[in-house]
Amino acid sequence: MSINRPPGYLRVSLLSACNLQCSYCLPAGKRRPTIFAPDDRVRSAIRLLHHFGIRKIRFTGGEPTLSKSLCELVSFVKALDGDIHTAITSNGVLLASKAQALSAAGLDSANISLDTLDPAKFRALTGRDYLDRVISGIYAAAKHIGSVKLNCVLMQGINDDETEKLILFADSRGLDLRFIEFMPNRYSALGDPRFVSSDEILDRLPWDLRPLPGRPNGAARYYTAPSLAIKVGFISPVSHPFCDGCDRVRLTAGGLLYTCLYDSSSINLFDLLTADYGRARTAFDELMRSKQFGGCRSTTGSATTLPSFFAMGG
Ligand code: SAM
Repeated sequence: MSINRPPGYLRVSLLSACNLQCSYCLPAGKRRPTIFAPDDRVRSAIRLLHHFGIRKIRFTGGEPTLSKSLCELVSFVKALDGDIHTAITSNGVLLASKAQALSAAGLDSANISLDTLDPAKFRALTGRDYLDRVISGIYAAAKHIGSVKLNCVLMQGINDDETEKLILFADSRGLDLRFIEFMPNRYSALGDPRFVSSDEILDRLPWDLRPLPGRPNGAARYYTAPSLAIKVGFISPVSHPFCDGCDRVRLTAGGLLYTCLYDSSSINLFDLLTADYGRARTAFDELMRSKQFGGCRSTTGSATTLPSFFAMGG
């Protein structure tokens, strides 16, 4: 299936570097190339894509808070068009010191990854002893940034015993929490034993969770229960793909623009920045027409042909 739909949501991976090494993203012993997106090119790319209809920009990585330019980029976007929604996806490690400045720069929302509340598990999963920093980062973000959500990649036999604890933690801070299905990537193909479906998790939860209406362009299906003050979301790209509502494009730190994590075709947007507007527009329109809407379920064969999330921004 291929649908020609204008993109509204841009995810920009500012750099491939990260201060954690989460095993589901980059297994221990594997190395990542270090790529930083040049600031001037990111700004020009954003200016161009804004012309093409982008209305929401999420900075990701690697870890976007490692970029010295993150605050300036957020301010740049807000100066370009105050109505663009600005967001980050972060592991939270540096947010205790950066949340206030990011909010002052105009950051509208933050998604923070929190896969476990167990310090030993956190170390095993990420290679670092930084759970306390992440928790402080979450508190600072909740204090300063308008909208904060927690994201948890659930893995069978690793952290799927912590769902209730994570919901109670999120509820105690008034933060919505989303459980993300483990997705195939460069280091593990479809069928990885860590995969556990959202429906299985929903069945196991002790709350009387009721679905909330609507999923406008969003990836998550939300639920709540009378005793919870928060929404619990399920992002289920494997068991309940949301491709038909997807209006995302993704820019890597190296300048490649993709319509999907799992697309094989891309254009080099940084190269096109020096071309005339008409050529850039044509290349962009062609890319949009080629969007396959197959998602991760269309992936077959070996993991080596799949994306690395640290390069694509997850
Ligand atoms: N460093 C930031 C962070 O940790 O949130 C941003 C980059 S990270 C690659 C972006 C998102 O990708 C995170 O929410 C992460 O949990 C998710 N991710 C990475 N590998 C994944 C996988 N195999 N399956 C599902 N989500 C994954």
